[in-house]
Amino acid sequence: TTQNTKTFFGQPEGLKTLFFTEMWERMSYYGMRMLLVLFMTATLQENGLGLTVASAAAIYGLYTGSVYFMGLPGGWISDRLLGGQKAVWYGGLIIMCGHIILAIPNDKTFFIGLIVVILGTGLLKPNIGAMVGQLYSDEDKRRDSGYAIYYMGINLGSVLGYTICGYLMEDQDNFGWHWAFGAAAIGMAVGLLQYRKTLGKLQGVGAQPAAPLSAKGKQMSWTAIGAMLIILATITALALNGALIIDPVSVAEYVAISFTVMFVLYYAAIYMFGNLTPNEMKRLGALLLVCIASACFWSGFEQAGSSMNLFARDYTDRLVGSFEIPTGWFQSLNAMFIVLLSPFFAALWINLGKRFVSPGYGIKCAIGLMVMASGFIVMFFAAQYAASGLKVAPYWLVATYFLHTVGELCLSPVALSAISKLSPRRFAGQMMGVFVLTYSIGNIISGLLAGNFDPNRVDQLPNLYIQISLFSIGIGIVILLLSFKSRIWENLSNDTEEVAA
Ligand code: GLN
Repeated sequence: TTQNTKTFFGQPEGLKTLFFTEMWERMSYYGMRMLLVLFMTATLQENGLGLTVASAAAIYGLYTGSVYFMGLPGGWISDRLLGGQKAVWYGGLIIMCGHIILAIPNDKTFFIGLIVVILGTGLLKPNIGAMVGQLYSDEDKRRDSGYAIYYMGINLGSVLGYTICGYLMEDQDNFGWHWAFGAAAIGMAVGLLQYRKTLGKLQGVGAQPAAPLSAKGKQMSWTAIGAMLIILATITALALNGALIIDPVSVAEYVAISFTVMFVLYYAAIYMFGNLTPNEMKRLGALLLVCIASACFWSGFEQAGSSMNLFARDYTDRLVGSFEIPTGWFQSLNAMFIVLLSPFFAALWINLGKRFVSPGYGIKCAIGLMVMASGFIVMFFAAQYAASGLKVAPYWLVATYFLHTVGELCLSPVALSAISKLSPRRFAGQMMGVFVLTYSIGNIISGLLAGNFDPNRVDQLPNLYIQISLFSIGIGIVILLLSFKSRIWENLSNDTEEVAA
């Protein structure tokens, strides 16, 4: 044939550009994230910031929450002002600057660096995810497996980040914290170079904003954005000078609530004022189930870095012969399982669709949520051994992480694909921003849940895990039942003219 025959694993070639850009961005994100709490709690002698665990954990929660919250304005800027291509480019540049600032050994600039990374990620993360979906036409059956491949890139990036930044951090004599932060900046730089060089493969996807504002509207928006940045800079300056006291622990709780409210308002605004056709409304209804499943999923899943990390450190028998497995290794099990299992899941969805019937987005997400919950049942039993004073074998955590990863693969790449398929094109960036906000809500709630766990009261641990598990299973069942109805909505055509039969 005379068609464009070059493909990337059977997918449009543009996927390669987005795959590697997101891989490097995630390398920088996860590499830096792994250092964050350790750096903040390390003493001044250890060249850290010497913060308490409570403050550091709250700052960590606020950071991971804000990173994804900024996807809302980031998606809007792409839809209305810049288009996806430029949003990703400038987002990446800003992220790189943030990591460069973090690499400077100075306490005060540290927080400025974090804020800059937050702003850049908001611009990059939702828009790169939305552009993946725009590589496919509405009928293209490769979309789900395209997202599965993209998701593998995300996790290859996190393996790279953990390995490189982890190594530089450990070797305090030759390298240390700021080298590790610097490595994150270099990773993002490599991603940007690669993006620049292979931009042509996108064949115009994201070249223009989907629903551009008028010239006057654009000018007003940039002025407003500039004003907001000045306010942000002023608050930051006041806080750094000690003129404004911010207590991160109490802020975190308010933030969890306001993000949830923000999610509801934004979603309702698109639904009511977005000039949607009846079909588009039903499709948005189906997506709401996907978003709720996602927020619940990450609230449980993200315990990995907190309560399960402590479980690995304190209650797991990590001695194999004379070798002690480092606590941090358990953290990379998830990314490793993802990379191993992704091809299997990509093939599974295609074959289920061909031979049997494709389960639909809502159903897959509900199953993902329940599989994650079953991982916490494993932890419930493990925690009972721990509560009775025993150390458990490492297999318990391995089994939990395995179940969590299987759940993640049923839900996370599937949800990305659902958002890209079912949202109206003119809201592509913003809907991805709304979806990424469910990461934010999940991350913060998981932090608050883990905060209930007191290392000196291990007897409470089984209770925490069984509650998370039962709650997730309950929500999962409700979503599963509703999904049998919403499956019909998922299959409605996007055609503006066509009216639902
Ligand atoms: N691992 C996924 C990503 O980085 C999801 C992150 C999350 O916290 N929900 O894109």
